[in-house]
Amino acid sequence: MSEQIANNVSESSLPSTQQPSSFADIYHSSIHNRESFWAQQAKRIYWHKQPDKILDDSNLPFAKWFVGGETNLCYNCVDRHLPDRAEQDAFIWLSSEINQELIDTFPAVADAFSDLGNSVEFYTDYTKRRLTYNDLYKEVNYFADVLQRHGVGKGDRVIIYMPMILEAAYAMLACTRIGAIHSVVFGGFAAHNLAIRMDDAEAKMLITVDAGLRGGKIINYKNLINQGVEQANHKPEHVLVVNRGILPFKAQPIDVDYATERRISCDANATVDPVWLESNEPSYLLYTSGTTGTPKGVQRDTGGHAVALTTSIDYVYNGKAGETFWTISDVGWAAGHSYTIYAPLLAGMTSVMYEGLPHRPNPGIWWRIVEANKVNILFTAPTGVRMLKKQDETWMTRYDVSSLKSFFLAGEPLDESTASWLTEHLGVPILDHYWQTESGWPILSHAPKFNHKPHKQGSPGYPMYGYDAHVINEETGEPCAAGEKGLLAIAAPLPPGCLTTVWRNDKRFISSYFNLFDGKQYSTSDYAVVDEGGYFHILGRTDDVINVAGHRIGTQEIEEAISTHPEIIECAVVGIADELKGELPIAFCVLRDHEQVKSTENRFRLEQQIVGAVVKSLGGIARPAAVYFPQALPKTRSGKILRRSIRALAENKPTGDMSTLDNPPAIDAVKQSMKDY
Ligand code: AMP
Repeated sequence: MSEQIANNVSESSLPSTQQPSSFADIYHSSIHNRESFWAQQAKRIYWHKQPDKILDDSNLPFAKWFVGGETNLCYNCVDRHLPDRAEQDAFIWLSSEINQELIDTFPAVADAFSDLGNSVEFYTDYTKRRLTYNDLYKEVNYFADVLQRHGVGKGDRVIIYMPMILEAAYAMLACTRIGAIHSVVFGGFAAHNLAIRMDDAEAKMLITVDAGLRGGKIINYKNLINQGVEQANHKPEHVLVVNRGILPFKAQPIDVDYATERRISCDANATVDPVWLESNEPSYLLYTSGTTGTPKGVQRDTGGHAVALTTSIDYVYNGKAGETFWTISDVGWAAGHSYTIYAPLLAGMTSVMYEGLPHRPNPGIWWRIVEANKVNILFTAPTGVRMLKKQDETWMTRYDVSSLKSFFLAGEPLDESTASWLTEHLGVPILDHYWQTESGWPILSHAPKFNHKPHKQGSPGYPMYGYDAHVINEETGEPCAAGEKGLLAIAAPLPPGCLTTVWRNDKRFISSYFNLFDGKQYSTSDYAVVDEGGYFHILGRTDDVINVAGHRIGTQEIEEAISTHPEIIECAVVGIADELKGELPIAFCVLRDHEQVKSTENRFRLEQQIVGAVVKSLGGIARPAAVYFPQALPKTRSGKILRRSIRALAENKPTGDMSTLDNPPAIDAVKQSMKDY
């Protein structure tokens, strides 16, 4: 650490704003005195150079926060805590996938830990590692040194395709330390998804592992990366491989072995000075599905992101330095970025990182982890909870979870029965809250710190400070009355921490999010309603995006994968309600020769091929739950497939207005195809 930085550390302190008296005051000030509100919040982080201007809103909807300020995300997450909490755990990593049985089968797994500098504790059914802020500082510096020695520098894009292991956190933090822009790709995505992202981001380096594990099943990450590189037009210079000792693989000429490189950095005691970035320079890209086939690269800035996340730990989650935060989400999703990695570290907390399923080795694993590690704040998507709901209930009460202050849920609708079931069994506040990849932190929530309004089950709460959020009439843009359904919109400027644009595509930023009325309203693409008490309720998407287990998937991406099948002339994919996963995709495919499906054998072959094409292209998460073969699809006169009507038919609900339908017999064809099944 340079002397200058060390001096600055003692000057900067952890979150230190004057605490306002009520949430109503906070909210009011965040909307009506934006600059002074956020100037105050900006004191929560370390600035190498103070901002010249808090907000530049001269070119809305593009908002610039903390203009001219210079900071570094990694420095704020790691270095800044060394004077006060070097020996506090930064991460507690747990894996129920690395158990005794796995180690007996693959002895190299245990060796790989020592190679990677991990001192771990092996138990029969899980593996654990504690990592102090001091350890994290060292590992992140080694990682940053490895990146630099392989030519990665400020502004370069790095794709991270890794499971829930500590090296994924080092990789993200090391990128932000040197000003490289990371883009984490969810491990459940397939080679095609990887290739699209490699091309769009023009990634210089990829970081991966030999293999991941899910419920004991081995996922061949390295092979998927190799295929992705093969399919991509833009080839990376290097693939950095963290070898976990699970799957032997043949190294490619561009592969670099992380353990070997880490050893070099470690022997040299390498440290890498943080690169100070102007607040608006990008920290990362996270691709998300939209209505069109190509995913959008949500671009996050640096200073606004750090300020927003640090503030949210205090005002939304009521978390404190030294407490333990556990977000059960893959690092490939926004929740994993914001609340497994960045926010808890920014706030000096301990973050739990878990590799494993909710019900393995048994359905008590979450609660056992809470008890053993005194978790204070828990956050996950409802799907995991619904999975536990199907298991033996006694697991819910075998562990002491009294350390928990609150349990937040987001990512998909939280149904009443799941919420009540959890409340009954855990006895802690179950708080639904709502946000998006784009926002990076909660748009709607309850704020338990302030006792603002009583918690209302069935609602994700009310707008958080900074979000001028309203439900508006889709046609007129006028605010809806209480009880009236409309579009959930946010008036520009979006607060700090939200996406600043779509990577290298300002036009798409506007056309995807700000194409309403005067161009000054961000569209969430969700319908909502506000009740008499001012609580918001989310009523579902306005577009063709479905939500499978809290993960957003564009139905068009699935349709594109299916359309590669030579025997299919057109198809429509819709999401239908599923008790466990919220929604599941189902596909309606029109064949060149409908006679084909008259033979059961042929039909089975086609189904297998279609499902296979989707899984190959997009990964198991997008697997259609059913494939139907109607003779035609209902369309409007302008040729638009009526997916909402198809969905209604699939769910046995009224199809609504059919007056724009061009081919009425197609409705019967869709119905018949489901009967044939
Ligand atoms: P993602 O960007 O993948 O996190 O997905 C964001 C979308 O998930 C939102 O636009 C909503 O459709 C949905 N969503 C997130 N949180 C909630 C919630 N608490 N209740 C209902 N839907 C939600």
